[in-house]
Amino acid sequence: MRRLLERIFEDFTPNARVLVAVGSATPFLIVYFVVHGLALRDEAIRQGLNAGPMLVLQAVFVVCSLVNLGIGLKLWPRRWVNEPADDPTQLACLSIGLAYTLLCMLTGTFTSGTNLILVGVLAIGLLLFELRPMVVAYLVCAALLVGHDAAVLAGWLPYAPALSEGVFPDGQPTWWFGMWRQYVLYAGWAVMIGLLLFLLARLDHLHENLTRLSYTDGLTGLANRRRFMDVLGAELARQARSGHELCLLLIDADHFKDVNDRHGHHAGDAVLRDLARILMLSVRTPTDLPARLGGEEFAVVLPDTHLGEARRVAERLREQVATHVFEDGDQRLRVTVSIGLVAARDVGLQALLQQADQALYRAKETGRNRVVEGGRATP
Ligand code: GH3
Ligand code: MG
Ligand code: MG
Repeated sequence: MRRLLERIFEDFTPNARVLVAVGSATPFLIVYFVVHGLALRDEAIRQGLNAGPMLVLQAVFVVCSLVNLGIGLKLWPRRWVNEPADDPTQLACLSIGLAYTLLCMLTGTFTSGTNLILVGVLAIGLLLFELRPMVVAYLVCAALLVGHDAAVLAGWLPYAPALSEGVFPDGQPTWWFGMWRQYVLYAGWAVMIGLLLFLLARLDHLHENLTRLSYTDGLTGLANRRRFMDVLGAELARQARSGHELCLLLIDADHFKDVNDRHGHHAGDAVLRDLARILMLSVRTPTDLPARLGGEEFAVVLPDTHLGEARRVAERLREQVATHVFEDGDQRLRVTVSIGLVAARDVGLQALLQQADQALYRAKETGRNRVVEGGRATP
């Protein structure tokens, strides 16, 4: 189910979404058409109906079903083509909305709550699909419903013109009309609840995506500074309780400005992505967290790790980078990194970062392409 929703939200093109709307609404229209046809053939029921308005309703169902089928046939071959589908969406929403609105008006189901369902469905649709093409259908249907209600109250329009007095033989609706009214109501509810669940799932999905994006570096896909700070803070607190040691590597590419100047910004970006990949592959997942702090500066948090182990990780990393041939198109280039390493026990976040930064600074000062230990950070 989750996989399907993800497909609908991410892979479904606007055309495919219109096909979903048309594919789920058209069977309802066809069922209405058939049931009305049967009702008109039944002698007992026909006495409760006014044939003229009922035929108008039948004609509307036929036209709307044909419009939907036409949209379906036209869009089906283009269902995976990613192009705006404003016009078909607008037409499909209008056709589905108008059929249901007229049904409510002509058969008097208007007052049994179905109008609210219609407006609800359209409102949810506005949130689910593109706003622009839905607005026309929303405004037309809402205006028709409100105008109709006002006209009935003012006595300009008869209430439920498709029904005759035969529907209410002793002031009460006949069994078939009562059933029909409930059917229209529940069919509407089913669509509205389905759409609501769909909307909630979509919001959930969007929320998840936004959270992921707010924690991810756009260029490299590594954790960003915000996530790094959150995790480092949490790990420091955890390590203060457990008494285990935590290590931090601060990594900065050497003379990176020259890489950009000599090979271009595009090559610089390719190097940063490759550096991130090397980082990712050379740490323990999921315990260690590699992150891009900004520019050409990276960091790795190594929880539950002794200084000796961290030294080996840092040295291996430095060597991997130094021996790697970075490529961008037909350009080949080499890059080195300097690494500041500190171990922490009972130390605050800022103090730890400051001491790692000092170690990194010393690595730069003493010739670059090296690991410098800041030792155990002290508060
Ligand atoms: P040092 O060895 O002292 O670290 O020298 P450096 O040139 O690496 O240091 P500096 O901080 O002077 O320059 C960092 C450069 O990194 C400057 C900037 O052009 C480049 N840079 C920062 N972010 C990006 C990025 O996202 N993409 C690319 N291509 N370059 C970046
Ligand atoms: Mg640098
Ligand atoms: Mg830098």
